[in-house]
Amino acid sequence: MENAVDAGASRVDVRCEEGGRRLISVSDDGCGILRDQLLLAIERHATSKLSDEDLQDIRTLGFRGEALAAIAGVSRLSIVTRARGSDRAWQLGVAAGVASDMQPAARQQGTLVEVRDLFYATPARLAFLRTASSESMAIADAVRGLALAHPTIGFSLREGDRERLSARAETGEDARAARLGTVLGQAFLDSSVPVQGHVEGAFIEGLAAVATHNRGHRRDQYVFVNGRPVRDPLVLGAASGAYRDLLPRGRFSVLALWIEVDPSRLDVNVHPAKAEVRFRDSSEIRRLVAGSLGRALRGSGHMADGGRAGSFAAVAQRRHPYSAGPRRGMPPPPSSLVDTPPQAAPGAPETVPAPQPEPGDFPLGAARAQLHKMFIVTQTAEGITLVDQHAAHERLVYERVKADLEKHGVESTPLLIPDIVRLDSADRQRLLDSADELRELGLVIEPFGTDAVCVREAPSLLGEIDSEGLLRDLAGELAEEGGAAALRERLEAVCSKMACHGSIRAGRELTLEQMNRLLRDMERTPHSGQCNHGRPTYIDLPLDDLKKLFERH
Ligand code: ADP
Ligand code: MG
Repeated sequence: MENAVDAGASRVDVRCEEGGRRLISVSDDGCGILRDQLLLAIERHATSKLSDEDLQDIRTLGFRGEALAAIAGVSRLSIVTRARGSDRAWQLGVAAGVASDMQPAARQQGTLVEVRDLFYATPARLAFLRTASSESMAIADAVRGLALAHPTIGFSLREGDRERLSARAETGEDARAARLGTVLGQAFLDSSVPVQGHVEGAFIEGLAAVATHNRGHRRDQYVFVNGRPVRDPLVLGAASGAYRDLLPRGRFSVLALWIEVDPSRLDVNVHPAKAEVRFRDSSEIRRLVAGSLGRALRGSGHMADGGRAGSFAAVAQRRHPYSAGPRRGMPPPPSSLVDTPPQAAPGAPETVPAPQPEPGDFPLGAARAQLHKMFIVTQTAEGITLVDQHAAHERLVYERVKADLEKHGVESTPLLIPDIVRLDSADRQRLLDSADELRELGLVIEPFGTDAVCVREAPSLLGEIDSEGLLRDLAGELAEEGGAAALRERLEAVCSKMACHGSIRAGRELTLEQMNRLLRDMERTPHSGQCNHGRPTYIDLPLDDLKKLFERH
């Protein structure tokens, strides 16, 4: 597939059978291969794509001349190709590395590469293939990744006689968005926020789904570095950090991020399948990914996954005005609403005590009722919203505790008897080098002897601590340039627990005023669309959907 893209194809059609074991074929309409180059194509380390001076500046997907030679050595390979401007096509067959004579063939411009009976001559390697279904999942992931990277090229994938992907070539400014819709679904577009940012020598853009639109696997996390699909641990790690306290355990975010880096600051030749890259400024890139994603997600405010609106949304064919519609553009309510009763709508009579807002005044509308002492029902400009009062309040408390931590620092408690922890010298040095940062997080350490550190104070939030375990975790994090993330993570976990216990329980009666105040708080609070455990805090029932449900048109 990469060769087809490098050949300037406008269509790439992939077929496979039995998870690729029996057949993988890729057909393209690219520049083709000249007859006298055809034998070279399957030779080891022969590539038409790289001259010596290019080594620092690789712009093609291929550059090692390895793929065809490697596959030709372990399968029955056939290449049928017609070069641009040439009046006939040629076919070359190779079986376990041995080429047969070239034959004239019939074909439009472009190349068809068919790989049959993969590993037939090397049973030991055949045994390492996974089940047909997991191999075909891997094939589909590879096709989807390349299809996302190249929206202006049409892609299809057939497995047996099942069509697994059909993506037409897109044009124009919205090509990428259209392709994202085809590959990841409209629900992803409706539930995601734009990501954007830059640092010196690199920029990022893309879309990231809000946390409630999540998956039980990581396969819908797509990263492209200079147009190349990669599964890079640095980028994926930084991305999952941005979702850290938003997703429930075992759930994964959905995102597509395009990173452009000055090619001279990037090494793409570090992984056998080119799935990983090496950034020269890795901590800058980490900062770029974490920072821009964090900003995007905070900006999503109270937005929850439209897809969670269940049957209502299905009725409306997953049209989610909440996440995509006009309400998102509403100005944020004034911050003076903190702990004050809602303000009157303009023009409302001043004599009414504690006036109720109009449904159209705020994104989450006006509270109308509380049901089962659990749910708040609000009327919005375009429908009804149901709020889970406990889940919503829990998030608010959690964000407040976190903001407090950030503003006032972390309170620490001196240990009655300081803990002495022995460490190897590299770990010890790393920890002592970060002593200032750790102090800000409430952990006070000092050198002790030549091979230990002394823990004098610990964050009060953590209660009794296992100093040794904590220090070892921290040293590990610091070794991976992660900063003191482990400590922050523990603190946030504690905040989350406190928030859970300090929140309005289900079962508590609320006045209309209290309900409205909760709604206004939600509108102002980052991430309030989901509780700390990643569940949605509210569900939107647009009027249009309700009408359809009652078959009113
Ligand atoms: P690389 O892509 O690293 O150059 P490959 O083994 O994948 O190495 O391919 C070897 C060569 O065969 C390429 O450099 C290219 O010249 C030619 N080639 C392979 N596939 C195609 C194709 N689909 N269209 C045009 N040329 C191709
Ligand atoms: Mg190649």
